This record gives sequence, C-alpha cells and structure tokens, in this order.
Amino acid sequence: MKSFPMFINVADKTIVVVGGGEQAAQKTRLALKTEARLLLVADALDDELRQLVARGRATQVSSDGLVDALQQARFAFVATGCAGADASVAGIARDVGVLVNVVDRPDLCDLTTPALVDRDPVVIAIGTEGTAPVLARQIKTRIEELLEPKLGDLAALAGRLRNAVAHKVPRARHRAFWRWVFVGAPRRSFASGRETEAARAIKEAIDARGQVEQTAGKGLVSLVGAGPGAADLMTLRGVQRLQEADVIFYDRLVDPGVLELARRDAERVYVGKKPGAHHWPQDRINRVIAAAALAGKRVVRLKCGDPLVFGRAAEEAEALDAAGVEWEVVPGVTAALAAASQAKIFPTSRGKTQRLVLATGHSAKGAAEPDFVAEARPGGTIAYYMCVENADRMARALQSAGAPSDLLVQVVENAAHAQTRVFTGRLSELGQLVRDEGVSNPAVLFVEWPFPAAGCERAPRSASKAASRRSDRAAELSVV
Ligand code: SAH
Repeated sequence: MKSFPMFINVADKTIVVVGGGEQAAQKTRLALKTEARLLLVADALDDELRQLVARGRATQVSSDGLVDALQQARFAFVATGCAGADASVAGIARDVGVLVNVVDRPDLCDLTTPALVDRDPVVIAIGTEGTAPVLARQIKTRIEELLEPKLGDLAALAGRLRNAVAHKVPRARHRAFWRWVFVGAPRRSFASGRETEAARAIKEAIDARGQVEQTAGKGLVSLVGAGPGAADLMTLRGVQRLQEADVIFYDRLVDPGVLELARRDAERVYVGKKPGAHHWPQDRINRVIAAAALAGKRVVRLKCGDPLVFGRAAEEAEALDAAGVEWEVVPGVTAALAAASQAKIFPTSRGKTQRLVLATGHSAKGAAEPDFVAEARPGGTIAYYMCVENADRMARALQSAGAPSDLLVQVVENAAHAQTRVFTGRLSELGQLVRDEGVSNPAVLFVEWPFPAAGCERAPRSASKAASRRSDRAAELSVV
C-alpha cells in the first residue's frame, strides 16, 4: 500500500477548500458530510458556495488570507479550476506543512478521496490508489446493495445505548446481545422501516438484562418479488433478504441471475410448477415453507415479478398465519411494467388512457375461464398475463364486446431477459400473430383502447352500450 487508510477526526477542526467554482463545490460537498469547520479561500464564490456562507455553514476567506487559513487546517482541498494556480497553492501548503488533495493532480496529492458508502456513522471507504476509479465505483455499487439505507441509524442508536448496555447487561451476555441487535429482529425491523418497534425491543431487552426475546430465533418468511428477470431490477430490500436467507424456495420463472445474489451456502429449493404439470401442489409448498420457518430458519419465498400479482401470495400468507409464522412482503417489478418499459409502451397516457388493468388470460385448472372483457372499454389499457394460450379467444371476445378490430395490441415475450421479443399488431390479427410468430410464455399482452377524442374526463358516447354498462362495475374490478 502506498497510502495508509485512516479516518481523521475533523469534528470542530478546520478543512480548507481553495477555489470558488464547481470543482471547489464538489470537494466542499464531501467536506460538508463531516462536522468540520469549512474555510473557503476564494475571492469569488459560485451560487452554491455563496449560499453555504450565507447559511453560516462555511466561511469565505479572501486569497490574501490563504496562508493564515492553511495554518489552521487539518488538511486542504486545492480546487481553483486553474492548473497553474493549483500547483502554486499546493507548494504554499507544503511550506506551511499541511496535507493537500489537489484536483486532477495525483502527483501533487498527499491525500486521495476514496469512493464512499455512507451509512453514517458506518462509513466504508474504497480506494484503488488512483489505478481504477471505475472499479472503485462498481465496488461501491455492490456494497450499497448489501447495506440497507437505515443501517447507519441502527448503528447510531446502538452508540447511544452502549452505556446502558454496559451498566445493565451482564458482561458475559454482551456479545450475544449485540449480535441479536445487528443480525436479529432489530436489524430486520429497522431495514423495513419499523424503527420504533426495533428501538422498543432493544430497550426492553436491556431492561431484561440482555435476555433477548425468543421470537428472534423463530424464523420469518419473506415473500420476495424477484422482478421479471434481470437481477438489477430487484429491489435492494429483496437482495438483502436473499443474503440473509437460510433457505430459498423459488419458482419456475425466477431468473438464475437473481439466485446468484443469495448467500453461497443458502439452501435453494425449486418449487416451480410447469404449466399443466404441477410438481409441487400449493398446499405442499405452504407446508414446507411454514415448517422451515418454525425450525428457526430465515426463509425467502422468491416469486417472479411482484409476489402480490398473480403470485398466490394470499394462499401462502394464510397458511403461514395459520401456522403462527411471521411473514412480510417485499415488492418486485411486475412483468407488465417491465414489459411496458422495455417495449416503450405507455399504458396510461394523458388524453388517451387513464386506467391500467392487470388481468389474467388463464384460470386455474378446472376453474371457469376468466372474463376477458370485464374491464374492456375506451380510455384504458389492459395488460393480460398468461395470455398466450387463449390469445385468439380473447381477441374475439373483445371484439364482440365492442372493441374496434383495429385496436393496437402488443405482446412482449420474455421481458427483461436477453431474448426479449416484442410484437405489434391489430386486435383482429392477434391470434394469427401469436401463431405465426410462435409466441410462447412468459408473455404479457397489452390491449390499448384509447378515448376516440381528446380529454380523459369521461367515456365518449360512441362506446358500446355493453361497454358503458360494464363501466359501472369498473371500480370493483381493477384486477380481473
Ligand atoms: N407475479 C408475477 C406474475 C406471475 S404469473 C408478476 O408480477 O409479474 C406468470 C405470468 O407473468 C406469465 O404467464 C407472464 O404473463 C408474466 N410474466 C412473468 N415474467 C415475465 C417476463 N419476464 N416477461 C413477460 N411476461 C412475464
């Protein structure tokens, strides 16, 4: 290592920034994260820096005061925007004996600024000694995904309670206690926005001399949305749950790239159902998930898209309730929205469409066929999931219900995967299109039925009688 990694305490100390333009502002933003006093040495400041001075967060010093300012500094950023001026200021700083960071001049720098993952007071600094800043940023992104945004708040709370723990919790229990705080229920509660609940549990555990509540070891099932495919469409919370999981039960359409995000030693159980061939009946899935949680495991039930959209989450949640197992839902990007963004479809568009309906083109085995047209009327887009098998019948039903045969239809197959295909046609040609192109699952069909005239306020008179009757029922039927 050419550089020694170290955190410098600058609370109530002075950091000097030399320069008054954008480069100086960039360094000032970094310094502002700390509790240091800021001296800005420049005869003129840009609007942003002037505002800081006006608010009292920084003090401006004219260039005559450079040496005085440097003499007070823990270190200085040199960022005048002029290479010659930077070099001479760096020389003066060296004479004064203060360490400097000079913008774009690694050869003149005593200090370099790392890429930061900031969960204050938890701070991770990544440096490559100037060899690979792009790599540093990529590492930063990976670590950002690993650490939930609220982690710093939990660490700060722990800091405030450290004394109480020292006084009330027997020393032999300290390790187990802090492990529970940072690995157990409090960390999970914090991560999912239940800070008050977490703080209360920690304080109760301190008052109970470090006896942590037993629910910490009772397991939790997270119903996690894996998104439509590409792993980077998963939420940060979903990734965290995967990394904490002891066991992951996953479906057929979950992309292998998403599973890669799990801990290497987590158990992975495929519970997928192929259309028409139900390897794992739903009640068996319900039983094994609950059993794993009751055995104290952290369980992720990973479903493609969003767990709440045609994902049978309700049945699993009901079974978990019946078994007395705690559960939560972590949302995901549902297929229709991923497909729309990829194919640049605007499911709602001012003046044309004011509703997006998520509907299914297929029912469970043995159940009656879904009502394809319950929501079909002007001013809306219907996104049909599981649309391939019945495409022809759906198109005919829509036309019988008054939908114009030349309505725009789009089918997006395998959204968010490398091999996405997008097909566009007219409603009357839908069945033909699906057959000719060999469209296969998974695919979403969009049927856009715009208002004929401008203005979304009300359905036009030209809508068929059947369609206007149906509009009375629309509110109850947002998902068919
Ligand atoms: N919970 C999922 C839907 C599960 S139902 C979600 O929110 O997306 C399965 C149906 O979802 C498939 O038949 C298909 O219509 C749709 N689907 C899932 N992944 C898809 C993808 N990558 N591209 C297009 N459609 C997809």
